[in-house]
Amino acid sequence: MHDLHGKGRLTKLIHAGNPIDPATGAVSVPIYQSSTFAFKNADHGAASFRGDPEGGYIYTRLGNPTIMALEESVATLEGGCGAMACATGMAAVNLVYYAILSQNDHIVCTESLYGPSRTVLETEYPRFGIAATFVDSTDPAHVEAAMRAETKLVYLETPANPTLKLADLRTICEIAHRHGALVCVDNTFASPYLQNPLELGADLVLHSMTKFINGHTDVVAGMVVAKDEDLYRRVLKVHKNLGGTMDPHQAWLVLRGIKSLGLRMEKAQENCLKLAHFLEAHPKITWVRYPFLESHPQHDLAREQMRGGGAVMSFGVVGGLDGGKKLMDNLEICTLAVSLGGIETLIEHPASMTHAGIPQHEREAAEITDDLVRIAVGCEDYADIEADLARVLDTI
Ligand SMILES: *Cc1c(COP(=O)(O)O)cnc(C)c1O
Repeated sequence: MHDLHGKGRLTKLIHAGNPIDPATGAVSVPIYQSSTFAFKNADHGAASFRGDPEGGYIYTRLGNPTIMALEESVATLEGGCGAMACATGMAAVNLVYYAILSQNDHIVCTESLYGPSRTVLETEYPRFGIAATFVDSTDPAHVEAAMRAETKLVYLETPANPTLKLADLRTICEIAHRHGALVCVDNTFASPYLQNPLELGADLVLHSMTKFINGHTDVVAGMVVAKDEDLYRRVLKVHKNLGGTMDPHQAWLVLRGIKSLGLRMEKAQENCLKLAHFLEAHPKITWVRYPFLESHPQHDLAREQMRGGGAVMSFGVVGGLDGGKKLMDNLEICTLAVSLGGIETLIEHPASMTHAGIPQHEREAAEITDDLVRIAVGCEDYADIEADLARVLDTI
């Protein structure tokens, strides 16, 4: 393994978790598509189960070389001490809830969370006596006010989906820790290339790797990264038994995608910032929300805790939902589809699609208004994306 300490982000993306295969010299980590691994003898099997250094792999749900290469890659990028690959982003979200929360515990969350991350806390976890409070985490005082003696976890999304609101990670981590709670950040929107929550005080960070990390709209996958060894062991124990683990082929596809994360993100966020300026000046657009626009209410915070604004933004079209529908139905380069972080530009309407499961009054309280259109800008030529939007906006 290369020593990547002090190396740049592009170097880490390409080399972390990607050793040259000692058996064959393969430069790309091989796909170890095997459910089980033979022991050399009974003592070796026993050592493997004890987790001794001379032990080996046992069974793919418990560990697999291809999956571990991806775990090492993301752990290195996030500056964590261990990572756990999950079948989907939601498997990662539920792994964190399940590993950290017990009966009668309480969780405080960003109100405009990824839809299912919120829905599951409202519909499933109350059966186990777990309560949740959703707050506007743009103001750390709202988090502080929601903390109770039984609060064990503060769960944040920044930038949040789809409002692009930010949470001040340093300040909120300090508040949570003072109240004896852990902090987990869903870092899907920024990706480890632009933001590292563990460095700002978080205890856990998770990703839907379906989005920017894989980046090619062909895999669903998730990852949880823990700050320290104790927390890693605690979550890992649950992960192996809960079973939302990854498949080696899936891990290999994500390993292939992650190597170009930096290049993709640089191009996509350059396109996104240009498009944000274009839309902000357009007469058919009522508002634009993007962290690196000066008009973003938390622009200073964005510059402080993020290395770039990312490639997702939201905006309003004149004529509200009808204007937005006309736009989405007539675009040619931009594809009408949920998801984000892929190489291609995707556009969607959260109130009727990704966030339709949240009751309207709660949606509106979280500022997921009916006129909000979300666009995840891809890596096409900028001029083609702008022309696509300009052509349709002129007809509205
Ligand atoms: C997509 C997404 C998830 C869920 O990930 P899946 O891979 O679809 O299960 C969680 N959080 C955020 C912010 C997401 O965008």
